[in-house]
Amino acid sequence: MKRIVIVPDGVGDWPLEELGGKTPLEAAKKPHLDELCYHSILGTLKTCPDGMYPGSDVCGLSLMGYDPKVGYSGRAPLEAANLGIVLKPGELAFRCNLVHEENGILTDYSADHISTEEADLLIQELQKRLGSDVISFHPGKMYRHILLYRRADDLAVQTDQPHDFQGNAYRQHWPRGKGAQLLIDLTERSKKILSAHPVNEARIKKGKKPANMIWLWGGGPAPKLESFQEKYGISGGVISAVDLLNGLGRYVGWEIINVPGATGYFDTDYQAKGRYAIDALRRLDLVFVHVEATDEAGHTGNVSEKVRAIENIDRHIVAPVVQHLKQEKDWRLFVAPDHYTPIVKKTHVAEPVPFIFAGSDVSQASQKSYTEANANVTRIKLEQGYALMARLVHGWPR
Ligand SMILES: [Zn+2]
Repeated sequence: MKRIVIVPDGVGDWPLEELGGKTPLEAAKKPHLDELCYHSILGTLKTCPDGMYPGSDVCGLSLMGYDPKVGYSGRAPLEAANLGIVLKPGELAFRCNLVHEENGILTDYSADHISTEEADLLIQELQKRLGSDVISFHPGKMYRHILLYRRADDLAVQTDQPHDFQGNAYRQHWPRGKGAQLLIDLTERSKKILSAHPVNEARIKKGKKPANMIWLWGGGPAPKLESFQEKYGISGGVISAVDLLNGLGRYVGWEIINVPGATGYFDTDYQAKGRYAIDALRRLDLVFVHVEATDEAGHTGNVSEKVRAIENIDRHIVAPVVQHLKQEKDWRLFVAPDHYTPIVKKTHVAEPVPFIFAGSDVSQASQKSYTEANANVTRIKLEQGYALMARLVHGWPR
């Protein structure tokens, strides 16, 4: 039995004036998705448990077949995993942003989208000056880095995400709770070290904002996740350009399938993703294919890119994958975004997402195309996000 999951990140949306009252899913030309949906089960899935934020981590865990309420331990441990840092007991990972501050105001959570090369030098300097047996800095991409803290018992802190309070006085958002002063001290010390660094002097000369402070947030221990093989009895792999999802994949023991040309942006190589997915199916029982471009279009409020991303997914991933699966005797597939990223909101919304469930042993036919409205009117509503994966593995109950 071969199984595929296709995740158009953040594809769910609301009707838009620019599209004559249609959603991007309704406006896009996506014959393959619609054909698949017509002959399959269509319904909605609650990927985000009540009281949790609909991030790609929480909702991604649901799609991967895990209950976020049980397994989730913060975003940073998952991003760390994708840098090859798998946390041991007693260790905490924090997200370490390189940010720009001016007169006590956090003016840019990304330090002007600092390049990975520049950031690398800054993080190395921080490691040299502030690193110890207990603390270490690990470079990631652009403004997104990791701080590892090896005495978890020292800390029980709440932190604020810097993109939520950009433009405000950061001292009102200092970490709070046991050991918070430790993180505050590190942040204060980073200012002096970073401000004096040649990378930042060069940035200022070029008229760019210097990355003159770190911001530590989203800390946590290793997630409590049983391996996928143990939980579901089959092997799996993930194709994604997003660190977070690859990190999740590592924790559950999936193969991380690197696709050249997969960028996580509008220019991602869709055809390559489709090809690599099919290729990976030859050695794995399950492949999880994630496409970020639909979510990026939502975050930037770009209607035409969102429509185009859906059409590209349809043509270059759904079409070849479905064609390949139909040559297999036994197969199942589901298509579902992790969450809504409505164009008008430019951020994630926790709304049950539309899903298609198809397979060689699925005889129900929705006789509908794949849209939010069509999914909402079916009576098929899965209240547990992880239930869809369980059905993909074990079959749709008759
Ligand atoms: Zn997003």
